[in-house]
Amino acid sequence: MDTPGAQTPLTAEDEAELLHAIDAWARRSLRPEVVREFDHADRYPAHIVEEMKELGLFGATISPEYGGLGLPASTYAKIVMRISSVWMSITGIINSHLMLALAIEKFGTPEQKKKWLPSLASGEIRGGLALTEPDAGTDLQGIRTTARREGDHYVINGTKTWITNAVEGSCFGLLVKTDPDAQPRHKGMSLFIAPKNPNFISTRKLPKLGYKAIDTGELIADDYRLPAENLIGGVEGQGFYQTTGGLELGRINVAARGAGIAEGALQLATKYAQIRHTFGKPIAEHQAIALKLGEMVTRARAARLLTLDAAASFDRGERCDMEAGMAKYFSSEAALENSVEAMRIHGAYGYSQEYDIERLYRDAPLTCIGEGTNEMQRIIISKQWIKRNPES
Ligand SMILES: Cc1cc2nc3c(=O)[nH]c(=O)nc-3n(C[C@H](O)[C@H](O)[C@H](O)COP(=O)(O)OP(=O)(O)OC[C@H]3O[C@@H](n4cnc5c(N)ncnc54)[C@H](O)[C@@H]3O)c2cc1C
Repeated sequence: MDTPGAQTPLTAEDEAELLHAIDAWARRSLRPEVVREFDHADRYPAHIVEEMKELGLFGATISPEYGGLGLPASTYAKIVMRISSVWMSITGIINSHLMLALAIEKFGTPEQKKKWLPSLASGEIRGGLALTEPDAGTDLQGIRTTARREGDHYVINGTKTWITNAVEGSCFGLLVKTDPDAQPRHKGMSLFIAPKNPNFISTRKLPKLGYKAIDTGELIADDYRLPAENLIGGVEGQGFYQTTGGLELGRINVAARGAGIAEGALQLATKYAQIRHTFGKPIAEHQAIALKLGEMVTRARAARLLTLDAAASFDRGERCDMEAGMAKYFSSEAALENSVEAMRIHGAYGYSQEYDIERLYRDAPLTCIGEGTNEMQRIIISKQWIKRNPES
């Protein structure tokens, strides 16, 4: 798998200034009562999306020549961690959008980059990646959506599901089979830039355990005609490679979300353990709670460091599938464990919808599924580890 060219890190001052602006915005706009309201109503936070546009977040990792901020993965990961420690859902609005932009910037023709990247960077067009189908998630080569060439167009038919931003977004990286009989199967796969139209629509928003407010839905292509110029890179058969080419950054994104949740849960538990008293002292002073906090702070720190390690490797232009996999695997499990432990520390109040920990507890499991399940991550890590350590 290729990695994009090395990214120049920001100066410490520039990065600190940017993160300060994100923190100030989060304090102002992601107040607990606002987040709780939108999360519980599962309502799209349109005003927050507008503010994210103003902050330039829709172009965070897009090159400045196309109107983006051109941030290195390490800075972007810090932004995602900060936001996710408060409200992970809204990072999904930009993460999958930026994965579409990455596919175009890394593999698109010069004309495609010029045409699509500026409006993606400004957030005028928002979208994501439409890969998964009802019968194919992990085994992406099993997708059934087809694109048949007719003159200078393709006619696309098929159903995508579990697509982030499917309802509110307007343009997607659509993975199809241009040659359903190809062997190996991935040689028949292609990726298109696919704006919605009456023949490519979202049919429904899926009800979910967590990751609320942001829409995850189905997309249906029904004799959907797309100009051939929308085929990313202009050559058929590259879609699987183009999709997996973005996975390292995708996994760093999810790792950052997990590290953010792990940190957020730790912060909530730390505060609560000092104000809640039982048997004449703060519960933080009971050894059972102290042990939990000790484990939680270690997990949160390790998740952060693994994520930043993978991001730094990505920014140096190195192959980092193992590092990104380790970060994604560890951070998402840390998110799950810290949110459960924080909930236990809150006692009954951890189970209350008037406290924030129940949201982190519902949001955490997604990080174990997205961008490759944690079962697959461990297999990928192990394969790469053996490859780097051959016995001969
Ligand atoms: C909220 C949410 C948002 C999402 N957003 C997007 C999106 O924007 N775009 C998109 O394309 N997809 C998206 N997805 C889909 C996600 O990428 C898939 O759910 C994921 O890839 C797993 O696929 P699956 O659900 O079909 O599980 P399956 O592939 O059916 O796997 C089921 C179980 O079997 C295990 N398994 C499968 N194969 C193996 C194997 N070879 N070895 C060991 N274990 C295996 C898996 O780890 C899992 O535990 C989203 C999913 C969710 C829940």
